[in-house]
Amino acid sequence: MKKLYIALLCLIALSATAQEPLKLRADAFPWQPDMQKATVNMAATVEEMADWDRYPTYETYVAMMQGWAQQYPSLCRLDTIGTSVQGRLILCMKIANPTNANAVNPEFFYSSTMHGDEVTGYYFMLRLIDTLLSSYGTSTELTELVNSIDIYINPLSNPDGTYRGGNNTVAGAVRYNANNVDLNRNYPDPFGTAPLNSQQIENTAMIAYVSQHRFVLSANLHGGAEVMNYPWDSYRTSQRPHPDADWWKAVGKRFVDTTRTYNSQRFRDVNSAGVIEGGDWYVISNGRQDYMNEVHGCHEITMELSTQKTLPSSSLCNYWNWMCHSLINYIAETPNVPNVNLSVTEADQAYINVFPNPTRRYLYIKSDNLSDAYLIDMVGRSQRLHSNIIDLGDYPNGIYLLKMGSHVQKVVKY
Ligand SMILES: [Zn+2]
Repeated sequence: MKKLYIALLCLIALSATAQEPLKLRADAFPWQPDMQKATVNMAATVEEMADWDRYPTYETYVAMMQGWAQQYPSLCRLDTIGTSVQGRLILCMKIANPTNANAVNPEFFYSSTMHGDEVTGYYFMLRLIDTLLSSYGTSTELTELVNSIDIYINPLSNPDGTYRGGNNTVAGAVRYNANNVDLNRNYPDPFGTAPLNSQQIENTAMIAYVSQHRFVLSANLHGGAEVMNYPWDSYRTSQRPHPDADWWKAVGKRFVDTTRTYNSQRFRDVNSAGVIEGGDWYVISNGRQDYMNEVHGCHEITMELSTQKTLPSSSLCNYWNWMCHSLINYIAETPNVPNVNLSVTEADQAYINVFPNPTRRYLYIKSDNLSDAYLIDMVGRSQRLHSNIIDLGDYPNGIYLLKMGSHVQKVVKY
């Protein structure tokens, strides 16, 4: 009996060292609101945002976005993705090379606060827009970033949730939209395992917007924990590892390492790495991350940026100082997304049987295994393939790369 007891103790000790247990705090019930409501000061005018120690009212937010568009007309463009259930605007700022409008640059996308009370990212995105615009031409690093990547920033994708307490405060912010729907359980399930009832207009608008673009890299910003949550959310690693899991872990580590050089305590509340595969944390379906990755061939990560969903406004500047370098460096990862830097060898080309090539419209792939198949254009934008028949009708004429596993084939549309 005693031997058995000791053996059991050893087993428990071994399993504890073999795999680090996940710490359960906000992340155990991430949909719960913060128990302690933070003190928030609001900026009722754009001028009151000058010190960045407040949250904007809804009107101030819209005025800031419109003000930047007027102040930097050649550097940015203000898009309206759509409107919310209660008619508030869902806005996106495009910041891109002002001197060469015809440049074909890869597209990057930041989108925040689809959970209305997770407002750290909302504030960060406004400050990021301001930083990129005001630093253009003076900061070599940021000027080069804007010149080489088309940057799209949507600070607030659930305005009705954030301003549930009225347009003048974020103190009454809630997770859900005005129909009390969790927008991050309301995207089409790309794996066909979970039905979707009544898609909300915020998401319908977002889907239409991302469908007009070919975002190479993106991030969806949340709060309630501090962790980089990479795909998949619908599966645990043991069920279905993401083909670029190693790349995601490296990107996540760079992000976390950078913020920890400013505050060593950051990103430790889920695990010590601060990086986790989504389903290994907790499995969800109908989330945005898997939809973006699987349907749009985008590389999207979910960033959980602060354990407290609504930070006290007095903490905002500190958090920005700890995180801004990580957020900027993440944009700079865009050219390094897997599939972008492809070298096509003769040996590789022989492997993919595709015809006709060149083609006017349709391509037929003679293969039964499409589990890792992508079509990539010459600036590295990739789209996941789901069928042996590819319709290139809407694609510009030119050269594309067909990638299946480790094999690559050049195809031409004319
Ligand atoms: Zn969230």
